[in-house]
Amino acid sequence: MNSTNPAEVLQALIRCPSVTPAEGGALTTLQALVEPLGFKVERMTASEPGTPDIENLYARLGSEGPHLMFAGHTDVVPVGNEADWSHPPFAAEIADGMLYGRGAVDMKGGIACFVTALARLVEEKGPPKGSVSLLITGDEEGPAVNGTVKLLEWAKDKGEHWDACLVGEPTNPDQLGDMIKIGRRGSISATVTVRGVQGHAAYPHLADNPVRGAVRLADALMHPPFDHGTDNFQPSNLEVTSIDVGNPATNVIPASTSFKFNIRFNDVWTAESVQAEILRRLDEAAAENHLRPGRDPVAYEIVWSERPSHVFLTRNNALIASLSGAIETVTGSTPQLSTTGGTSDARFIKDYCPVVEFGLVGQTMHMVDERVAVEDLETLTRIYKTFIEQWFANANA
Ligand SMILES: [Zn+2]
Repeated sequence: MNSTNPAEVLQALIRCPSVTPAEGGALTTLQALVEPLGFKVERMTASEPGTPDIENLYARLGSEGPHLMFAGHTDVVPVGNEADWSHPPFAAEIADGMLYGRGAVDMKGGIACFVTALARLVEEKGPPKGSVSLLITGDEEGPAVNGTVKLLEWAKDKGEHWDACLVGEPTNPDQLGDMIKIGRRGSISATVTVRGVQGHAAYPHLADNPVRGAVRLADALMHPPFDHGTDNFQPSNLEVTSIDVGNPATNVIPASTSFKFNIRFNDVWTAESVQAEILRRLDEAAAENHLRPGRDPVAYEIVWSERPSHVFLTRNNALIASLSGAIETVTGSTPQLSTTGGTSDARFIKDYCPVVEFGLVGQTMHMVDERVAVEDLETLTRIYKTFIEQWFANANA
């Protein structure tokens, strides 16, 4: 295989059916690609009771600082109905300039371009002055328990330290060069349960309908807005995602009801302060007199999701400028610096070093006929190569 051709590298990776939690040969293929470039490769298997073991890979080129990390995942989501694909999902066929396959954009394509960029750099100028690491997990699309979190801890315990990180997830909505992610909103979910007393709908004074309270509590979380956004973030937003009574009868007042919600919050808040605001709203609404005239406030319980995702914003100008400068040099367009979208493994990496995200165009990720333009692979490879050169030039200046 020619490691300076990103389409060939990507084809080799797609042909490894690495649907989470299977390794599928993808890490072995990657190892075979980067060892000849001078990388020292380590494979690390992470375990946790109740979850499948996951294979991960850490590779380092060089032993001195400055140290640049590239992070990503070789696992992919399931293909769905294989018959719906116009090209088999693990065949990596090229048709009309498009390379088809599961993981083409999310995110074996990003990995292929980064490895190719390094291969070209090493071939032309030798390895960069410093170190480059690949932190590649097999557990991003699954529970994400045995992936990046454990791999980072494991590497740190061995004395690894990084100055900056690029995550190669697909970040561009329409065209290569549209968007860099420089932070992410936080995310918390919870379930609220309101208990009452079951009874006949015609004799409500003998019962205590929990639906009245639950509806008001849910509404209090949705209005008014939590904030109006900040310079770098869109407004925080809470969505009630389910309201459940499970009552098959129309003439029975139920004994309890619950609802679930998820909030995506910006840098006005911390996970702790947004939780406090949610409790304040719930308590205030629960005490509203009209809900239960002459009775105690609505009694509710709240159970928070186990691991909130914290909001973060990267403020490392040298890192952001190296990336955005490389994108401008290669594509001629100025990328938007964004914090939109869902969470990613960057939320774990930010505790170790400044992190930015830039990869392919995300339109077909997780879809049938996931595909990437072969031309985009070449362009992203050139962007990554220019970025690596600019970042090391800055860091060594
Ligand atoms: Zn991904």
